Amino acid sequence: MSKFVYLFKEGNASMKNLLGGKGANLAEMTSLGLPVPRGFTVTTEACIQYYKDGQKISEEIENQINAALAATEEIVGKKFGDPANPFLVSVRSGARASMPGMMDTILNLGLNDATVEGLAKLTNNERFAYDSYRRFIQMFSDVVMEVEKKKFDAILESVKEHNKAEKDTDLTAENLKEVVRLYKELFLAEKGFGFPQEPREQLLEAIKAVFRSWDNPRAIVYRRENDIPASWGTAVNIQAMVFGNMGDDCGTGVAFTRNPSTGEKKLYGEFLMNAQGEDVVAGIRTPYSISQLHETQPEVYEEFTKICDILEHHYKDMQDMEFTIEHNKLFMLQTRNGKRTAPAALKIACDLMDEGMLSHEEALLKIEPRTLDTLLHNNFDPAALSNAKAVAQGLAASPGAASGRVYFSAEDAAEAAARGEKVILARLETSPEDIEGMISSQGILTARGGMTSHAAVVARGMGKCCVAGCSQVKIDDDKKIIKADSGAVFHEGDWMSLDGSTGKVYEGALATIPPVLSEEFHRIMNLADEFRTLKVRTNADSPRDAKVALSFGAEGIGLCRTEHMFFDEARIPAVREMILSKTEENRRKALAKLLPMQRGDFEGIYRAMGELPVTIRFLDPPLHEFLPQEDSDIEDLAKTMGITIEDLKATVDSLHEFNPMMGHRGCRLGVTYPEIMEMQTRAVIEAAINVFKETGKTVIPEIMIPLVCEVKEFEFIKNIVDTTAKQVMEEKQTKIEYLVGTMIEIPRACLTADEIAKKAEFFSFGTNDLSQMTFGFSRDDATKFLGEYYSKKIFESDPFARLDQIGVGKLMKLAVELGQKTRPNIKLGICGEHGGDPSSVEFCHKIGLNYVSCSPYRVPIARLAAAQSAIKNK
Ligand code: ADP
Ligand code: MG
Ligand code: MG
Repeated sequence: MSKFVYLFKEGNASMKNLLGGKGANLAEMTSLGLPVPRGFTVTTEACIQYYKDGQKISEEIENQINAALAATEEIVGKKFGDPANPFLVSVRSGARASMPGMMDTILNLGLNDATVEGLAKLTNNERFAYDSYRRFIQMFSDVVMEVEKKKFDAILESVKEHNKAEKDTDLTAENLKEVVRLYKELFLAEKGFGFPQEPREQLLEAIKAVFRSWDNPRAIVYRRENDIPASWGTAVNIQAMVFGNMGDDCGTGVAFTRNPSTGEKKLYGEFLMNAQGEDVVAGIRTPYSISQLHETQPEVYEEFTKICDILEHHYKDMQDMEFTIEHNKLFMLQTRNGKRTAPAALKIACDLMDEGMLSHEEALLKIEPRTLDTLLHNNFDPAALSNAKAVAQGLAASPGAASGRVYFSAEDAAEAAARGEKVILARLETSPEDIEGMISSQGILTARGGMTSHAAVVARGMGKCCVAGCSQVKIDDDKKIIKADSGAVFHEGDWMSLDGSTGKVYEGALATIPPVLSEEFHRIMNLADEFRTLKVRTNADSPRDAKVALSFGAEGIGLCRTEHMFFDEARIPAVREMILSKTEENRRKALAKLLPMQRGDFEGIYRAMGELPVTIRFLDPPLHEFLPQEDSDIEDLAKTMGITIEDLKATVDSLHEFNPMMGHRGCRLGVTYPEIMEMQTRAVIEAAINVFKETGKTVIPEIMIPLVCEVKEFEFIKNIVDTTAKQVMEEKQTKIEYLVGTMIEIPRACLTADEIAKKAEFFSFGTNDLSQMTFGFSRDDATKFLGEYYSKKIFESDPFARLDQIGVGKLMKLAVELGQKTRPNIKLGICGEHGGDPSSVEFCHKIGLNYVSCSPYRVPIARLAAAQSAIKNK
């Protein structure tokens, strides 16, 4: 018989997969002897079993739950549903990784019309009992029974108004009884049956609701964004209640052991007195800073700081904790490794190394490679900032500079972003439903909520700029208007700039400047370089990109796309002439115009790269991408070429293809027009010789032939390259080294890699096309239907963003093995988008590639991901 339920004292931190993060840490804190209310965890396996059983909790699991409940009742000396001494619990979801989008916590479960009276008598505090009951009815109805929270809020507001209560703490016991009565009426009207009174039924329904929430749309979106498989499931924690709402010597709060924005080593957090649960986060009243606890309850504060220290040393990481104070007694309700900004992550990793808490390897593994991205992006130009006047000030919740047009709902924001607009999402406060809108926006502004509000926490996790709790603005999302106290007004679509590092809000779009990288950044990157075995190159088509990438630590260019150089306005006429020439002679004439331009480009790139390798891919895209569309362009071109407009139009038409991505492109162009390959080879080799003569430095150009599917095709082009190169070297009387290799991007190339490797000196996996051709999905059209694939759980992630290791990866592995068979020291790399995706980098490390190549801004990500792969796979 499997064990589906664990008492907190039976588990520990290593059991995250089974108990979920929250449950495992509650168990760990319990065994550390910290003050944790008793409870038990229903495992993730029970969740999976629930789905297997057709969304039912089996009898076996129910029995185990009852047994754990009885054991817990025994320890706390109270009984579920006993009016004389009622046992109340919280029901809390908790997956392996913390996951916004999951079911909200239900507090005070076990209350009903009888036990609420018992609780009032027992505590001699009727106000408290009914405050707990009204909260329970609202939470249970909202998250389990799907009666909208809003409707309850409206009742509460009207009772407050009627009784002239400003804050919820101003409501009397009588007022709260009235609230409870109205809540129950609302429930009955909405559901057609009365509010469930039987505690065991309440409990089972709540557990089922947690299981269901694993598969709600918000959770699915979040999982896709964060690489979390659906097969994990969530656990449920059932825990004895402690009460922060019993009076003024009670309270609840959240805190981080270090500052999650900057990494500064200083306790950081907020709390509220006479409050419960998420009151702090929900921004119902303005919370106090944790340092004030020092003044109001010095003993509790001291105990808390001691616990912080114990937890940090125990977990060897910054902790994010939740606590409740019941009549001056502290209880710990949660701890976890805290989410942090990228600058904070770097600082904390360095500090923990210096404090002797972490080894180098451990420190490197603590940093999420993807977040480094945010460090490399722009900040507002100080000059622009000093000229601008902030129109409002909120909390600097998540750093960065964002400008965009204001939208008031997640849907509108996502739609505008899909149209290509830059978007700022403005909300009173955000909730998990807003996730997609938050993903689509440049920055997030909220009027309510603190540094630990949903918006702040989620934005920091995403590395997105966020100004939270900006009470100096009134956001009216019905009328779609923001009015700042300063007088500034924003309507939907107006430009706004947010500075997440200062919390300031500006009108218009402010100019930005490139970032300055911190000392800690360089320290961590250098450390990463000591551990990684994969080289990191960049995809760069211009000297400017190459320089950016070099400054981020690129060790060469893994992909220089020559066609990008052709799109330049000054050049495109010559390119078109080349394509549309009917004779080789005319084509050569056009190519002769392109040669010096292309040579100049390569010289610029070589100069930037010094002696580092540069992989140059020969002309790849379908020719139609270059063809003239506008009549005026056609006229001009006909004139230059000395042919009639009709003639030219006919040629353009004849080049039309039904499926250009599978048409006349890549090395196929070289087979039909060898002179293009000649010109490109000439440009590559002449440039190398010129730069060598000029600087004394030689690059080793790596000429890469795209879209090869057959060794003979490759051989044909390699012959042209070699013949031309030889000729150039003789003309210039200088010898240089170069390599000729191929992109592996067609399944047939993988299957025949042993043949191809006999001739090719290197392989570079072009995983964009390889994914496209392996799946048979057009990467330009797939987004239209992939959404359905996610919601129907056929796919969990976008195969163009995250390498499909199962299928495409299998082809890659095969190509590596076959290639090494006929050329044991063949150089292997990847130059698709996947080269900068951490999980894909790890895969490349595992199959033994020599390098990954990615866009310049992702070079640091790849360096760290490569180091982590080496450490993890030692
Ligand atoms: P989340 O994952 O959204 O943070 P939690 O399960 O941590 O949800 O619960 C939210 C809040 O509910 C906690 O911050 C805590 O204040 C409160 N809470 C949860 N369990 C209890 C409990 N047993 N007693 C008192 N408060 C609780
Ligand atoms: Mg929550
Ligand atoms: Mg929590």
